[in-house]
Amino acid sequence: MDKKEKIMELLSQLSEQELKEVLGNAPSKKRRRGKGKRKSRNTKNVNDSTNKFEEIYSSLKFSDSELAELKAAEETDKTSKLNPLRGGRSPVKKVKVRCDKCSNKFKVVPSLVQNAARWTCNDCLTGRR
Ligand SMILES: [Zn+2]
Repeated sequence: MDKKEKIMELLSQLSEQELKEVLGNAPSKKRRRGKGKRKSRNTKNVNDSTNKFEEIYSSLKFSDSELAELKAAEETDKTSKLNPLRGGRSPVKKVKVRCDKCSNKFKVVPSLVQNAARWTCNDCLTGRR
């Protein structure tokens, strides 16, 4: 495949909009602020990535001490167990608090409440209410 063919193939992968942008005569868009979906970039070729770990790993050269270290690590991997406490934590119990300003009731995580008598909700803090 020569260069021209390669370029043609690459160009055919682009959408019409992208082609216009590349050529520089795309109609100028107004900037959108805030709401609305945005087109995410770099969504192409995400699935094309291949795991090259094995390839790289096999091309590496280790010294004797490094090999011994790797072997020791493998051994500990085999014998080690998962942390028995893993996933055993119970979910946080939320506390009921009343906003000092708007006096609405809220259920919040206790770590966010320093003084229940003087607690203020987010809406009051940010001035939305
Ligand atoms: Zn409030």
